[in-house]
Amino acid sequence: MIIVIDGPAGAGKSTTAKEVARRTGFDYVDSGAMYRGFTYLYLEYDQDRTRLIEILDNHGLRFEFHITEARVFHGKKDITSDIRSDSVNSRVSEVAAMEEVRNTVRQLLRDVSKDRDVVLEGRDLGTVVFPDADLKFFLTADPGARARRRYDERILKGEQVSLEQVRENVETRDRIDSTRDIAPLKKADDAVEIDSTFLSFEEQVTRILKYIRNRSTAAQGSIS
Ligand code: C5P
Repeated sequence: MIIVIDGPAGAGKSTTAKEVARRTGFDYVDSGAMYRGFTYLYLEYDQDRTRLIEILDNHGLRFEFHITEARVFHGKKDITSDIRSDSVNSRVSEVAAMEEVRNTVRQLLRDVSKDRDVVLEGRDLGTVVFPDADLKFFLTADPGARARRRYDERILKGEQVSLEQVRENVETRDRIDSTRDIAPLKKADDAVEIDSTFLSFEEQVTRILKYIRNRSTAAQGSIS
């Protein structure tokens, strides 16, 4: 089964998708980690777009997705935390707007999800990458709440960052992500929208699990 959760930065997609994965036994797939991996390479290549595009067929990145864990390697180097750096944060939307990078990531996502039960999170999964996904969710929250959540997450990790910096990054990425020409951040027509501004984490997760249960029951019913 393929379940996708799209939405803007800081809407709670990762934590929600991981918890849904934990409770269903599905694997969690973080598409943002892939764009971040390519952004890491872009920075390694002194932001040379031509060079990045040249190596896309042989990029050397490896993504490992397990139930609630996503790890990224470049060659032998574990770059899981490097892809969350400020420099990657500030350039990732630019790299994600490159058509060649999007084509590569789209294929990687389809390959990694083949013959597997997965819950994926991203921006264009329900619209472009998996238009036939079994279930689609679009998670939103008001911009202030989203910036606050991202800020709290980073402070909890011990990072030195201001709420203003985080708010600016979230707003800039949302603007670039939703106005780009290719695969913009957008709710699929058949996605269930969940506004998490006033929902507890448990409520959000429970709502999604209920849809999954109903979907599984309906699928079993149609077999017998
Ligand atoms: O989800 P995360 O915040 O890690 O995503 C980082 C960036 O990757 C987003 O701001 C967006 O530019 C890009 N992205 C995308 N399409 C996806 C997932 C992420 O363009 N499906």
